Amino acid sequence: MEECLPEMVPISANVKNWTVSELIANGRWEWRKLQGLVPDETLQKISGINSFCLHKQDDPVWDKVRNGFYTVKKGYMETKMKKFVVDGRAGGTFSLPNSIWGKVWKLKILPKITHFAWRCLVGAVPVKEALVRRRCCNTSVICPICNQEVETIEHTLFLCSRFQGVWFASALSWKIDCNRFQSFGLWFEKILIDDNVLNEFQLAYVAWIIWLVWKERNSVVFEAKQHDPIKVVQLAEKAVREFWKANDWMVDDDEPVTKEIGWKGWRPPDFGVLKINCDGSCSLEAAAIGLVCRDHAGGFMWGFGEVVKSNSAFLTEVLAVLKALVLSRI
Ligand SMILES: [Zn+2]
Repeated sequence: MEECLPEMVPISANVKNWTVSELIANGRWEWRKLQGLVPDETLQKISGINSFCLHKQDDPVWDKVRNGFYTVKKGYMETKMKKFVVDGRAGGTFSLPNSIWGKVWKLKILPKITHFAWRCLVGAVPVKEALVRRRCCNTSVICPICNQEVETIEHTLFLCSRFQGVWFASALSWKIDCNRFQSFGLWFEKILIDDNVLNEFQLAYVAWIIWLVWKERNSVVFEAKQHDPIKVVQLAEKAVREFWKANDWMVDDDEPVTKEIGWKGWRPPDFGVLKINCDGSCSLEAAAIGLVCRDHAGGFMWGFGEVVKSNSAFLTEVLAVLKALVLSRI
């Protein structure tokens, strides 16, 4: 009853559980109950219903088809037509254009990873915030990895301080801007729909990283394993190359992950040269530096990270560059 009369009149608690049959007695409408429950024009329409119908039992009816019977085919069509509104971060919602789904299904990745990407988009990944919001469990919403912030899908995959290193160590060398990152859906929509951002191979690589970060999160939380961002990146690159080779999609065995005309991010060095990217991060509590070395194909050579003594972002960055210079001579 509550779903049928969502906005007509305020509904008292006992009325919320009524079914249509409770408004009918001896084959006649209970007008006393109906009056005040629905507007007059609806009452008029109800009075026009044939009394023959009032002797029948209540049956579930799907109002999208004339005969009232639900079919999977029609349900699928209905879902496809509908503009998707999904759960967003911390209980908000945002809508995704229908065109995004076709792009997701066409990603050249394992079906289980496509399915995971879809779950991320519709808010169906069991991060702490989602579990508590849906009252699935009565636990803390704080990220079990860093113990600092609410664990949303965005936090787990991109914003968690423990996983940001994965993106930096990746062939894309992404530095995640925590202040500007809005939602997974908007981010994924941008990289899927904007052809100038990533090519097909890079999209597969990114989707694989997302999947492996989630697996890594589960290993740390449920199996108390040590987090290793370098291992995640290496696994992602190996897996996507093997999958593409097995499907004969790889034109060049040594195809760099960063090879693309419109690519404006990290570029590989010339053949025979290694490139070291470095970064430093400083907060009130601690400072740390990270370095990644890659070859001409964007292949991972080595990575390095350590906590340093520093009280400013500038000094931390300088220490990172200094370390890169020292290690490049080894
Ligand atoms: Zn975290």
